[in-house]
Amino acid sequence: MAYDVEIEGIGYIADADAGAAGHADARSRAVAPTFTEDDLELDFSLRPKRLGDYLGQTKVKESLAIMIEAAQSRGDVADHILFSGPPGLGKTTLATVVANELGSSIRTTSGPAIARTGDLAAILTNLEEGDVLFIDEIHRLNRMVEEVLYPALEDFELDIVVGKGPAARSIRLDLPRFTLIGATTRTGLLTGPLRDRFGIAFRLQYYTPEELASIVCRSASILNVDVDQEGALEIARRSRGTPRLANRLLKRVRDWAQVRGDGAITEDVAAEALTFFEVDHLGLDAVDNRLLEVLCVQFGGRPVGLTTLASALAEDPDTVEDVYEPYLMQQGLMMRTPKGRQATVHAWEHLGLVPPEQP
Ligand code: ADP
Repeated sequence: MAYDVEIEGIGYIADADAGAAGHADARSRAVAPTFTEDDLELDFSLRPKRLGDYLGQTKVKESLAIMIEAAQSRGDVADHILFSGPPGLGKTTLATVVANELGSSIRTTSGPAIARTGDLAAILTNLEEGDVLFIDEIHRLNRMVEEVLYPALEDFELDIVVGKGPAARSIRLDLPRFTLIGATTRTGLLTGPLRDRFGIAFRLQYYTPEELASIVCRSASILNVDVDQEGALEIARRSRGTPRLANRLLKRVRDWAQVRGDGAITEDVAAEALTFFEVDHLGLDAVDNRLLEVLCVQFGGRPVGLTTLASALAEDPDTVEDVYEPYLMQQGLMMRTPKGRQATVHAWEHLGLVPPEQP
């Protein structure tokens, strides 16, 4: 199959996260798991570079280490890899880590940035042998672009049409062998043919408080912040299982401790600071608690459809689904039923309300 391409305007973006799913309001929240400007300073200094610095996700790391070593000993490029999971869990970081471990350069872009087939052709023809191409939000690639990607992934070939009208002719270009790393928050939105072209797919899990506490300690030592084990754990418990939040909350608590205390972060300091920033002991903020209130109080515990729930919160349904719900469900505070979203008994208790009698 051939494609009509105009090679101009490459869609590279410096920050693969900037386009991640998220509503403007969600971005200003202390616990918004999507990338905010707040994270920029932290990103450069704190992003782990090698597998050994990447904490947690043990199973994923083990499988990657085997895959990398096997590819290197064969003298071959590594298989195409897909990372999925909620924002802030370390998909972009892991892509960079894999490239570093392979000793390869990484080119970073995102699904929405590759608007036309020509953009993709320009990216692919600029790759060098063994490079890693990272496409964030890969579920947002348009179908035409996706179709150009298939032969590139399978056979490292690119079909392009040069010229227009009767003078048009199709040429096939050999591409350098490369490894695609795709990241998505929504595996369900990936087309079957694209999913099938990844040699291996990993779903990143929320981190345990202990894993996050190690991340907080690592970040604190890089940033020269004085935090004890219990202080790190308190920040970790309120970070919604997400390293990006753990780093962001560490920074907020650091500022608070400098101004209101002596700069040292203990359990009490962390708890007081985070309560001040309206992040409760489960890591929920005002919007999460409002969501639970809508389910319990406004709708009296009955199942509520996603769009109704989103409009009650004045939020975008995608944001509710991608940003708020995964953590609330993981915490057992809400569930998705065939009839709609419903609060669990745990949510009623969290709000200090008496759950309705079970029929
Ligand atoms: P995603 O691409 O899944 O949205 P990122 O890779 O951008 O998430 O990670 C967000 C931030 O969290 C990174 O800047 C990095 O500092 C930190 N981080 C993520 N995963 C880890 C980890 N396993 N260990 C230490 N820090 C991590």
